[in-house]
Amino acid sequence: MSHDLPDGRLFIGGEWREGQGAPITSTYSHDGSVNMVLAGASAADAETAIAAAKTAQADPAWRNALPQDRARILTRIGDGIEVAIPRISQIQSRDTGKTLAETAALAASAAGTFRYFAAVCETADDDLTTRRGTSLTASVHEPIGVVGAITPWNSPIASDAQKVAPALAAGNAVVLKPSSWSPLVSLELARIAEAAGLPKGLLSVLPGSGREVGNLLVNHPDIGRIAFTGGTDTGRMLGEQAGRKLMPISLELGGKSPTIVFDDADLDVAVAGVLFGIFSSTGQSCIAGSRLFVQRGIYDAFVAKLVAATQALRVGDPFAKGTQVAPMINHAHRDSVAAYVAGAFDEGGVILCGGTAPDDAARAAGAYYLPTIIAGLSNDAKTCREEIFGPVLCVLPFDSEEDVIAMGNDNDYGLACGIWTRDFPRAWRVAGAIRAGTVWINTYKQFSASTPFGGDGASGMGREKGRAGLRAWQRQKGIYCDLTGQPHPWAGVSA
Ligand code: NDP
Repeated sequence: MSHDLPDGRLFIGGEWREGQGAPITSTYSHDGSVNMVLAGASAADAETAIAAAKTAQADPAWRNALPQDRARILTRIGDGIEVAIPRISQIQSRDTGKTLAETAALAASAAGTFRYFAAVCETADDDLTTRRGTSLTASVHEPIGVVGAITPWNSPIASDAQKVAPALAAGNAVVLKPSSWSPLVSLELARIAEAAGLPKGLLSVLPGSGREVGNLLVNHPDIGRIAFTGGTDTGRMLGEQAGRKLMPISLELGGKSPTIVFDDADLDVAVAGVLFGIFSSTGQSCIAGSRLFVQRGIYDAFVAKLVAATQALRVGDPFAKGTQVAPMINHAHRDSVAAYVAGAFDEGGVILCGGTAPDDAARAAGAYYLPTIIAGLSNDAKTCREEIFGPVLCVLPFDSEEDVIAMGNDNDYGLACGIWTRDFPRAWRVAGAIRAGTVWINTYKQFSASTPFGGDGASGMGREKGRAGLRAWQRQKGIYCDLTGQPHPWAGVSA
């Protein structure tokens, strides 16, 4: 076990304890070595965390804390994350195989998210509503109580922060269940929150089985809201369970996002953006631009440029400076990506580059897969319809704006879209016509804590981030206060 990793204890109700659940193995996918085997959380651990959260949240010191006091703690957590970026990024790169540059950026974004929600918390006003009668009317916002966050493995600290920061800012207590494939970095977030003075019990971090711990959170009577990020099948199931409980749930799910290059685009800018959009994070990104539509007049030239640039990407060690494409999260996931590529052959696909693991002894033990471009498929092919969650790009030609809007929208997902053109009115028209929660014009994969994010259709429901991101974690209450001092005339009682 490396001394640079957390010690494997879980953060349960403000105490550091061994989990009582099944073991979880964190592996380093560069060489398949084991980072750590830790005892995951059990259902009993989750019950302990929820009970502690309930007590901590009900304490007037937190429930009625002034916004500036909550904001102060959130700011300290953000600052603590920033100071710890080198440590966080090396833990997360060991845990997920992502490049150090990317995990450092994710940690920086998590720090920014905590600071942003500190500011939102401190500046969010309740409303005095327009009077339409004899009462003074107001709409106020209150914490929900105990809430749950369930996150996937691909960008753990950033997706944890997107949920935990607004949930705490709103005055709740949070139980966070990170993915079993990336258990370590969320525990580091707990350490930082504790050091920042977050009162005991307000945050628990429970890496543990989704089926056991995740399911328990969603169905527990004391959990008042869930924010879930993960696969569409899991999200659909949890949405049904939440519906039975009449509990709000937000679902950030998968994607198969179209990227559209018109014939007037700056081709170098477009090539760079398309590459970044699909092959950064080794394609393991919900917003990966995995379906590329290129206007027919420039198709051959653009695809040739793109293939050449793809073949020049540096595939390698996550800790080596300059690596662009690191290994995938683990071998099982790499194999599922390889199976999709094999299936593309049967659908008539032509592999323009990649399509295999690197032929390199230094990468042989790792979960590596070369950046892959496939042409010749129809937009109806399984390879073009389903989320692969790996470094695989399908490229298709299109003729007109109308055609590409129809093809872009002909998919169950609706998460993101990229548009490359110098014609701004056209870009704006297409952005409006494509079903997606986020559209990027002449750029891709840019994020901001102040801009709401989420998907439509099979990509989920609800939005995170932005000023409204705080309100999602609160109950809204209308208050009417009589201004007349008179008995209601209906009762016939005179004053
Ligand atoms: P999963 O849906 O498999 O898992 C996500 C989380 O849910 C994990 O913590 C998992 O725990 C937990 N979980 C699994 N089964 C259950 C259950 N029955 N009840 C409660 N919780 C459960 O997704 P992945 O971890 O494989 O993540 C990849 C997916 O996430 C991709 O589809 C990707 O597109 C999506 N994603 C979406 C984003 C968005 O913002 N739209 C952003 C990032 C990723 P365990 O690990 O223990 O199984």
